[in-house]
Formats: sequence, C-alpha cells, structure tokens
Amino acid sequence: MELRRELLIAEMIDPGTGETIRTTIDVRTDPLTGHSSRILPERGLMPAIDFDLAALARQTEPGCPFCPDRIERLTPRLMPAIVPEGRITRGEAVLFANLHAYSSHSSVSVYSPGLHYLPLDDMTPEILADNLATQVAFAKAVMAAEPRSCWASINANHMLPSGSSLFHPHMQGIVDSIPTTVQRMLAELPPQRFCDYLDAERRSSERYLGNTGRVEWLASFAPIAPAELRAFAAGACSPAELDEDLIAELAHGLALALGGYAQMGFQSFNLAIYGAPPGTEGYPLNLRLACRSNPRPLYRSDSTFLERLHWEGAVDLAPEAVARQIGERFRG
Ligand SMILES: [Zn+2]
Repeated sequence: MELRRELLIAEMIDPGTGETIRTTIDVRTDPLTGHSSRILPERGLMPAIDFDLAALARQTEPGCPFCPDRIERLTPRLMPAIVPEGRITRGEAVLFANLHAYSSHSSVSVYSPGLHYLPLDDMTPEILADNLATQVAFAKAVMAAEPRSCWASINANHMLPSGSSLFHPHMQGIVDSIPTTVQRMLAELPPQRFCDYLDAERRSSERYLGNTGRVEWLASFAPIAPAELRAFAAGACSPAELDEDLIAELAHGLALALGGYAQMGFQSFNLAIYGAPPGTEGYPLNLRLACRSNPRPLYRSDSTFLERLHWEGAVDLAPEAVARQIGERFRG
C-alpha cells in the first residue's frame, strides 16, 4: 500500500523585509477513512499546559455528581432488564446510565468516585483496565438482552476542551442498533486494508510504535486531531468480545500513550474504540486516541472549520515527531 501525500507551497511577502516567504503544507490521505489531513510546520498551535488543573479540580468538586456520597443518589441506574443491579462495578470503577443519552444504550463509567482529579500521568494500566472492563460488561449485557444493538463503542471526552461537560474523569459507552459514521466506514472496509496499512507502517517504521502482544500501535499517518494514535486489536471486533487479557493489554497501551501525552504537556484527550457487530469477519477492533487543546482561559480550540465542517485534519505536530516522542515507551 502506498501512503498518499502531496506537498502544497504557499507564498507570501514578509511584511518586514519584503522577501518571499514559502510554507510547505503536507496533505495526506488516511488509508482507512479516505479523509485528508494537512500537516503544517510547527507553529505552536498546541501549547503545553500552564494551567492549574488541580485548582480547577478543587473548584469543581463540591456538588460533583460522580464523587463519593453523591454518585449513588444522583446518577441514573441501568434498566433492570439489562443489568438487574442497576450499575456495573469493577475495582473502583463504576458504570451507570448516561443522563444525557446519545443512543438507545448510553453509559458513563468513572475510573473511581474518589478520582475527581486524575491527571494523565496518574493513569495506570489498572485504573484503565477496570474502567474498560465495566464498559465491556455493559456491551455484553446490552447485546445479550437486545441482540439488534450490535454496534458498541467505548469513548472518552477527557477534560473540558474535549467536549466533557463534567470535570470528573470518565469514559462513555454507546451500544446501539445503528453505527456512527466512522464505525460504519471502518466496518465496511475489506479486512486486507488493515493488514496492508499495518504492513506499510511496519516497513517505514516512522510512525510505528510497537506491538504489545495482540495489539499494534502507531501514530496516524493523516491525523484528524493532534498527536492522533491508532491501535488495532486482533482477535476481537467488538468491545463485547474483549477477554480479560485483551482488556489488560489495551489498558497497558493506553497508559503508555497517555503518559506520552502528559510528557508532551497535554492533559485533555478523546478516545474511540470502534466496535463492529460481533463476528464481523476479519475486522480488527479499531482504537483512535488524540489529544486536545489544554484547558486554560482564552484557549484556542484545536477543532476548527476544517475538522468540523470539511472533515479535514490540520495539525502542526508531525506524526513522525509524535511517534519519536511516544515510541520509546512502547519499545522500552
Ligand atoms: Zn467528582
């Protein structure tokens, strides 16, 4: 597989010197979704965090519905036909129904009621695995009760710039009878496309991060969002098919990646684990992870008219530089 890219040159006159300025824009096409992305020269579009996140945590904690003492009273229970106990727990993680439903089965899972403040450096594999396990149990329970809801995804808006309305860190599950746009696009791809993409990235090694056993990680060639990473899990095509080993392995990789984001100065991210219907022939469970602008007053959103309305990425963090920064963790 050839990874397609085209270089565009922008020319303009320097207001000070009168010299011609030339800027190169590297336009790349994503081999899976077909969307294109513009890799810009480093412009400081994503400044490292300089904000007192702990202070914002203290400010938002009083009255937080996901904190201890309130979570039981203030969060909706799942329907008894799906989960008779109303909530799913694993370790300290707690999953409940999403008050703001996005699908026929929408869930929220906190890493722990006690973890109102959870900077990315503190995301351990255990904390991540427990939360993922509640989402896996939720997807299994919905599909057992209602087989037509065969499209499951595990997602996260982490910190306010990513779209989260509550500070308290959590994941979100969607299990539905219809897929989202990207779930549908990925599930319709011929399985060989994933193999060819991975082969191409392994050969070039510029963006390949590593293999943690059954899961392959890489920096996206044509990212739709900053520092976007992808993972492909062999042996499962839906979150509902994840076994304990794969949950632990995904959590391990996520902890490595999020630790890398923290080191790069980022504290907000989006996650999507795109399930296809269980048993979809040849589909490896796809994961996408990207960081978002840091929370701060007068911050610049990284999501512009290009991403939202053109479905066109525009980032000034070269995927190869992201892979160099995060790759060590996967190889070490
Ligand atoms: Zn809280």
